[in-house]
Amino acid sequence: MFTFTNYVESKNKNLKELSNEEIYYLLLEFVKEAAASKPKNDSKRKVYYISAEFLIGKLLSNNLINLGIYKDVKAELAAAGKSISEIEDIEPEPSLGNGGLGRLAVCFIDSMSTLGINGEGVGLKYHCGLFKQVFKDNKQYAEPDYWIEDQSWLVPTDISYDVPFKNFTLKSRLDRLDVLGYKKETKNYLNLFDINGLDYGLIEKGITFDQDEIQKNLTLFLYPDDSTRKGELLRIYQQYFMVSNAAQLLIDEAIERGSNLHDLPDYAFVQINDTHPSMVIPELIRLLTEKHGFEFDEAVAIVSKMVGYTNHTILAEALEKWPLDYLEEVVPHLVVIIKKLDAIVRGKFDDPRVQIIDEHNRVHMARMDIHFSTSVNGVAKLHTEILKTSELKPFYDLYPERFNNKTNGISFRRWLEFANQELADYIKELIGDDYLTDATQLEKLAAFADDPAVHKRLSQIKYDNKLALKRYLKANKGIDLDENSIIDTQIKRFHEYKRQQMNALYVIHKYLEIKKGNLPKRKITIIFGGKAAPAYVIAQDIIHLILSLSELINNDPEVSKYLNVHLVDNYNVTVAEHLIPATDISEQISLASKEASGTGNMKFMLNGALTLGTMDGANVEIAELVGPENIFIFGKDSDTIIDLYKKEGYVSRDYYENDANIKAAVDFIVSEDLVKVGDKERLERLYKELISKDWFMTLIDLAEYIEKKEEVYAAYEDQDAWNKKVVYNIAKAGFFSSDRTIEQYDKDIWHTKY
Ligand SMILES: *Cc1c(COP(=O)(O)O)cnc(C)c1O
Repeated sequence: MFTFTNYVESKNKNLKELSNEEIYYLLLEFVKEAAASKPKNDSKRKVYYISAEFLIGKLLSNNLINLGIYKDVKAELAAAGKSISEIEDIEPEPSLGNGGLGRLAVCFIDSMSTLGINGEGVGLKYHCGLFKQVFKDNKQYAEPDYWIEDQSWLVPTDISYDVPFKNFTLKSRLDRLDVLGYKKETKNYLNLFDINGLDYGLIEKGITFDQDEIQKNLTLFLYPDDSTRKGELLRIYQQYFMVSNAAQLLIDEAIERGSNLHDLPDYAFVQINDTHPSMVIPELIRLLTEKHGFEFDEAVAIVSKMVGYTNHTILAEALEKWPLDYLEEVVPHLVVIIKKLDAIVRGKFDDPRVQIIDEHNRVHMARMDIHFSTSVNGVAKLHTEILKTSELKPFYDLYPERFNNKTNGISFRRWLEFANQELADYIKELIGDDYLTDATQLEKLAAFADDPAVHKRLSQIKYDNKLALKRYLKANKGIDLDENSIIDTQIKRFHEYKRQQMNALYVIHKYLEIKKGNLPKRKITIIFGGKAAPAYVIAQDIIHLILSLSELINNDPEVSKYLNVHLVDNYNVTVAEHLIPATDISEQISLASKEASGTGNMKFMLNGALTLGTMDGANVEIAELVGPENIFIFGKDSDTIIDLYKKEGYVSRDYYENDANIKAAVDFIVSEDLVKVGDKERLERLYKELISKDWFMTLIDLAEYIEKKEEVYAAYEDQDAWNKKVVYNIAKAGFFSSDRTIEQYDKDIWHTKY
């Protein structure tokens, strides 16, 4: 076999004499060459998974695992006195996504390759990604995240298309990433389109930049600020650029493979990941009619047979509605088609709730998707039910057969095999390694649930992971972690519905209790991580509250013996890979009905953390699988919450005034102690928000949350009982493999292979 050492020698170099950096770039080329030589997946029909985001994560280790040579390379490096994890550190992480939706897209393309499905991702190559989060004065600042180096995983192609806008035409260029499947001979691509002539010089301070120069800024950032008109227009430019390229690529490839375009649905299927790629529908119709001579009606019929739409949220503000005059300003040639589609809908249905263009002349992208597709799916059982019975009910009444559920999943190769190598090895010791391609095999672990030797090993592995996390946080984040404490983690985007503020109020409660002399049995470390949208003021205020609490508590010698609070900066895939394996308690505390699925919850479960959560998103399915004795559930259920919104029946002030613990915790936000380390304006704004509005009902579940947390911490003290729960959680996690999700997409929607 040709090893990495052979490869290094073939370059007339000696592994022992190379720096970590030199080794990283050699490994990059070694893996790229191995990937380049693999044939592509093939089938008559091909899936195009179009997504504005692909939160890729680092690729070196994932690719080595998928090539089946990770352990060999690790051993070769070790023999030369080199550490693979230090080499992994050198790779920059591409930040091409916000959070769950973008990460899901990457787990999906990994699973498509692993299952040998002919399916590719299509998105944009944002040069500065989302943004890099830094903290100063207990506040979040955003900086450009330059992740593209001269030598990178990107493989340039000479594929290029003309993308017409109202005032100019932009030429595209395509770079690709090879997407390897786990121990598979074939591969797929992630297609990332870009413009020529991007100008970094347009960036001003932080991530502000000249938003007018579309021809030079289109792929600078992942759709940044959409709180302004210019920001929204740029987003439309980006979206159209993405889908026009995708549509042209798809048609070219179909023709190349023998399609006469009348049979295009036999050759291609488009999965629309949230509404961002919705314009692909009118764009495909435009190309078929304008370039290929089709009648409008036939083009509509063809396109409607080859599109599926995935809904990711029921938050109304996230369902895109573009003002018609914005679209007119950017893509007038699409507006003509959108109006015709709207006319078709109006000809059939009177209900204003299902019309594409509303009375304010806004185009509802999701509505267009639903009318002109074969499939509409939610991303967890509860979420799909809510879509059917409330959010999208008028559409479900029209097209019940189109609605289906595809509960999200995660790649076990990245989130267990790579992220938690010690646990993965131990699982192999117990049940073999079939679970990497057949995740249901994890069920076999249940047989060990009562084995004290297994419990002991699990405790040891968790401790080792805490030590590894301690080293990582010390070296990279300036955080001093106590590896002997309980680790209680909430990592995800900052949003009021996810309720980091509820966890922060618990922190205050605990701080006050410790000050009163009510000391916990064991030290607790509460870790947060996550970015907030730069224009989302309350989310910034919540970050500020947590950073201020962290400063106050960690520097108080009386309290910091029992309680530490950390907010890890620039949360990304790499940070998640370190935090999750070391965590004991997984915080999944969204307001019921608001979290579509969550995938963080699945990663934690797989890594032996126990869930403290509400009956929301995929938590519901986790609870069903593990049983009530193996999860900590609290809070109002989704029916109650949906009903309260309907009746406008939630008054936060009632909760504040009627519970002394809640009042004390909320009042502390504007206390002298906290204002000393914080910013008065921000803290006061958050305080007022909580008692006078609190749209996402923080206080409704706070009393129960406080109680439940105490129950969880108490349960931790019986390590055998705790580890029994851990075993059941890992054993039942198989359902959440993205291989299962993708197999279902293919069987029910795509029909390429299954
Ligand atoms: C998994 C993941 C998410 C999604 O987390 P949720 O808890 O499901 O919101 C977001 N960001 C990163 C970096 C992730 O790895």
